[in-house]
Formats: sequence, structure tokens, C-alpha cells
Amino acid sequence: MVAGLRGRGLVFSERVEEALLKVPRHLFLPESARSQAYRDSPLPIGDGQTISAPHMVAMMAEALDLRDGQKVLEIGAGSGYNAAVMAELVGPQGKIITMERHPSLAEKATKILLEAGYANVQVVVGDGSLGHPEQAPYDRISVTCGAPRVPGPLAEQLREGGTMVIPVGGLDYQSLLRVRKQSGRIMTEDLGSVVFVPLIGEKGHPSQ
Ligand code: SAH
Repeated sequence: MVAGLRGRGLVFSERVEEALLKVPRHLFLPESARSQAYRDSPLPIGDGQTISAPHMVAMMAEALDLRDGQKVLEIGAGSGYNAAVMAELVGPQGKIITMERHPSLAEKATKILLEAGYANVQVVVGDGSLGHPEQAPYDRISVTCGAPRVPGPLAEQLREGGTMVIPVGGLDYQSLLRVRKQSGRIMTEDLGSVVFVPLIGEKGHPSQ
């Protein structure tokens, strides 16, 4: 699967390739979906949510340019798979704080991440559209659900010189944006059309 992603140009750095090869994606899936773990496709994980397709995880990891020792905020822990891939990329000196609004998914993700040995990932239950000011600023922010616009609190909690990747748009599809903060200014680049489940929260979509 990873060779396929490389062939399509979606994985181009050795670091991202190694991280994808290290994380056992099947562990993050319910029994019923495990046989499909190494197909490049999103899959259901419960509560109407999905684990992102490997090509999307790869694309976001490449766009974020993760480095050893960085502190990363993820919005939308879901299965915990993307957090595990990012944990490989920031190494044991780095830290991933990943937020999830569904307590049941957060509980499952916490358990699997611990079992798989990712001690540097912390799962936080809450509305990620407000970020997690307690541990800000973050070197990187990865949003894995679609927002109507870049939530102000996330832009604020991004470190000077930091990068955020976030799908922004309507409920049907979004543009994957790379947002950089330089000299206090926010600069935005469109990386292409994507489809994510909605970011639901105070600075996201309403829950109905
Ligand atoms: N990164 C995940 C994919 C998650 S799908 C993985 O690797 O499996 C997006 C997730 O965002 C869903 O689990 C959804 O419940 C969550 N979500 C949506 N709105 C949220 C919010 N405001 N705060 C935190 N999580 C949210």
C-alpha cells in the first residue's frame, strides 16, 4: 500500500514513508473492517465517523513537515491512527495532543494508542474548534474534520513560524488549506479538494 502511495507521488519523503510502514493500521479498526486495513480507503470506526484514507494521512503529514521534538495539536482523534503516524514523525521527544468530541471514540483511541506503545500521545475529550489553550502554542496543528472557516482560537494557538493543515469549506467537500503564521500574519495556501466529516462545535458547524 505504501509503495502505491509513493508511486502516486503522495508520499515523497522517507520520513513519512517510514512512519506509515511502522504504524499497524489494522489495530485502529473495529474487527469487522480489519481485513481492509491496508487498502487506501476511509473506513467506518463507529459513531458515524471514519478513519481517514492512508493517502490523506500521508498528504497531511507531508504538508505539515513534522520534525523531531515538535508539539502538535490534532483536532479529530477518531481512531487515533493519524495521531500515531504523527507521533512517529515527532519522535519520543515530541508530543501529540489530539482532541475528540465523542467520548466513546476518545476512550477507544486512548486504549489502542497505549497498547501500541504511543506514550507521547494524549487524547483530550472536548470541542476542538476552540483548541486546547492549556498547552499552546503548538508548532503544528492538524485538523482532520472539515471546518466552515479557520477557527480563530486555532490560529491564535499556532506558534509564530508554525503550520496548520485544515479542510475548509461546505459539508460536501472542502479545500485542504495550509496555514502559516509568519510575523503575526496568517498566510494561506490551497492544496486541493478533499472530503472530510464535519468539524462540529462552537467555531465549527452546528450539530444539526
Ligand atoms: N484522525 C482520525 C480521523 C477522524 S474523522 C483518524 O485517524 O482516525 C474526524 C473526527 O473528528 C471524528 O472522530 C469526529 O468525531 C471528530 N470531530 C468533529 N468535530 C470535532 C470537534 N469540534 N472537536 C473534536 N473532534 C471533533
